[in-house]
Amino acid sequence: MMHFNLEETRLKEEIKKRKPKIVFLQLPEGLKPAAPHLASIVEEAGALPIVSSDPCYGACDLPISEAKLLDADLIVHYGHTPMTLNNELPVVYVEAKAKINIKEALAKALPFLESWNKIGLVTTIQHIHKFDEAKKILKAAGKTVFVGNADSTKHPGQVTGCDFGNAQAVSEDVEAFLFVGGGRFHAIGVALTTGKPTIIADPYEELASPINDDARRVIMQRWGNISEAKEAKNFGILISLKTGQMHLRDALEIKEKLERNRRKATLLALREVTPNALMQFPSLDAFVNTACPRLSLDDAPNYSKPLLYLNEALVLLGEMTWEEMLRRGWFGNAT
Ligand code: SF4
Repeated sequence: MMHFNLEETRLKEEIKKRKPKIVFLQLPEGLKPAAPHLASIVEEAGALPIVSSDPCYGACDLPISEAKLLDADLIVHYGHTPMTLNNELPVVYVEAKAKINIKEALAKALPFLESWNKIGLVTTIQHIHKFDEAKKILKAAGKTVFVGNADSTKHPGQVTGCDFGNAQAVSEDVEAFLFVGGGRFHAIGVALTTGKPTIIADPYEELASPINDDARRVIMQRWGNISEAKEAKNFGILISLKTGQMHLRDALEIKEKLERNRRKATLLALREVTPNALMQFPSLDAFVNTACPRLSLDDAPNYSKPLLYLNEALVLLGEMTWEEMLRRGWFGNAT
């Protein structure tokens, strides 16, 4: 956990100040190895720590009902900024910023940006403290830097797995985007939702690469998925039981629309959407995902049946054109 700032001193101070009896500690997958260390700090500060060991991929998954079941009076959530409305239990968010240098990755990204001058800069919460440094490097290379401030995230320029508002906000002004961060998912999301060339500068690997071939592959695969689902008669509509991923109204609306179009639709509520969970319903020909959009992108090849986003289901029904879907955003959850 050397790579992330776990803010141990603040954690201790928060526990001493708030004096909870039971603390429910939640960490995303990559940070879970630090849980025993953080639990000891909580315990030394005078509270009983319990570690949530279920998967967690975002602040959308705040474990409020689980914490209440355990009688916890404080949740400590690592790795993300607030996302869900929650008036039920106090939550301490620790952003877990990465303690790594971005210089090398940026230096490797610059040649890929050579043909463009107007650059949109985006990153995840783990590198937001390096944002000014990234801006300076781009400016020193003669670029004009655009940073979106769309209000839906805590910081300007920040993107999450399902919120690319800060990229979309400046998309019309820029020629290309630079995403600073690890993995390929966020950068693909930027490319998909803006349609602009996107370069990824990965400070963990100290590497840079364009992402647009991956984005094109995803588009082909999504298009194939919609075509395949056109034959489907029986749909399963996935409703997430995770606090910030539950879009019940969207699910009910798409059920009604499918039924109006002579399809059958069954509502399926679940916490974890996995290929195995969906395989338990062999009579369903295709699924509409109203839960985490990441599933339909990252994992699509592992699902044996088409798994569509809401907007893709509207394209399938002829209620939205493919072009309109690209313009309005890929994922489509509205509620
Ligand atoms: S991409 Fe999925 S896991 Fe990440 S914040 Fe959005 S809903 Fe949550």
